[in-house]
Amino acid sequence: MDIQKNLIGGEWIAGQESIASINPSDTNDVVGRFALAEAAQVRQAVAAARAAQPAWAATTTQVRSDLLQRTAHELFARREQIGELVSREAGKTRAEGIGEVTRASQIFGFFAGEAVRYGGENLPSVRPNIGVQTSREPIGVVGLITPWNFPIAIAAWKIAPALAFGNTLLLKPSEETPAVASELFRVLERNGLPAGVANLVNGHGAVAGAAIVDGVDALSFTGSVATGRKLAQSAVAKMVRVQLEMGGKNPLVVLDDADLPQAVECALNGAFFSAGQRCTASSRLIVTDGIHDRFVEALRARMREVQVGHALAAGTDIGPVINQRQLEMIQRYIAVGKDEGARLIEGGNVLERSTPGFFMAPTLFVDTRNDMRINREEVFGPFATVIRARDYEEALALANDTEYGLSAGICTQSHKHATHFRLNVKSGLAMVNLPTAGLDYHVPFGGTKGSSFGPREQGSYAADFYTLTKTAYIGH
Ligand code: NAD
Repeated sequence: MDIQKNLIGGEWIAGQESIASINPSDTNDVVGRFALAEAAQVRQAVAAARAAQPAWAATTTQVRSDLLQRTAHELFARREQIGELVSREAGKTRAEGIGEVTRASQIFGFFAGEAVRYGGENLPSVRPNIGVQTSREPIGVVGLITPWNFPIAIAAWKIAPALAFGNTLLLKPSEETPAVASELFRVLERNGLPAGVANLVNGHGAVAGAAIVDGVDALSFTGSVATGRKLAQSAVAKMVRVQLEMGGKNPLVVLDDADLPQAVECALNGAFFSAGQRCTASSRLIVTDGIHDRFVEALRARMREVQVGHALAAGTDIGPVINQRQLEMIQRYIAVGKDEGARLIEGGNVLERSTPGFFMAPTLFVDTRNDMRINREEVFGPFATVIRARDYEEALALANDTEYGLSAGICTQSHKHATHFRLNVKSGLAMVNLPTAGLDYHVPFGGTKGSSFGPREQGSYAADFYTLTKTAYIGH
């Protein structure tokens, strides 16, 4: 099998070592082999991006917009084919894979617009005969580090604004999803990417990822809290602008007056779809007394109907988890939950299917307390807990009692409670009668507390991270 290379300075370059990308639905299926960049190659990529940056920043906004628009068109036209690759490599169902590529296309299309739309302000000075003008300039070379769970969408929402605003970049994707990243760079290249403007360095996090901080002007990271905290320290020490999007322990509050079928669908989708491997997954279901037992029974019944299997098989609702390590970690948390005295009422077991893969039954614990480890730590799998609450006030307090703050949802028919929750829940995203996961591409995204650090991603807010604001005073 050919070893696929890294794109540095417009050349596809081999590495000393390589890794195999394995299909989590069928470990006999090797998706590809990929060259691993060492620190020296990362430095080469930083240098290539540095050399290409002035010319890229000097292009017209139309040139930048055209690259993004053409990329958007190709991704959309090939969404089924690339979506299948996403499913094969990341274990998403066919619909999820196609949906993610469609989303990536929409993000590129959105930033094709932003590239020509963004600008500054004219303001009156407080002094006579002076005008004040603000403008946005590119920040320079941007390092991007991404996880495996949205291998094309997250890359898109970092690459597209970086390019739109005149920056050059290097991307270090997850070791689990190098094929999707390579495919995206082939698409960019085919649609007019100049040499060095965007560089791809597949590699191990501790080697290639850690090396990215040296020499870049800004670093945007999405991944786990542990990695993010480490990276932030080295970035700040080097005065590198940093943006971190990390984990969640997202609450979904279900009040007595909720529409029961709607609340159950919100919980089922939020907790278990994409095998629970979403930073916005609903992992804590906080349910008030009056509806608790009916909700648990109805959710359990729906959980029994979902099909877990090969991501690309017809009828699959939930694909595998990403790898053996993740499967074992979920098993460890199931043991922790039992030891802590929580009651496992559904799932908890690894599933055998006709292909060797990492299939996990959707798992539900009840009778849990918010101070249990299973309610404090991100599990990142099809794993949810139910916490009983007396009333809305206690439910809100439980929702906020976490070190995370990414997404939070409430199911209720009460306008008063929905409004109060939206205003008082400590999270970056608040969802009313909707799952905690599932977002638009044109609006800001991010969390608070331990989940996020730095300015928001996506929408017009992305300019706050990917540009520098200059204030000019003009005397006349
Ligand atoms: P991870 O932290 O293990 O890896 C993320 C990326 O960081 C990978 O590319 C990895 O190679 C790299 N990395 C690892 N160690 C590094 C180091 N020492 N220095 C530099 N880079 C390093 O996370 P993961 O398992 O790939 O992804 C799952 C996590 O991502 C979950 O915690 C999830 O909640 C989070 N996530 C957050 C968002 C969000 O927007 N908030 C979105 C998706 C996923």
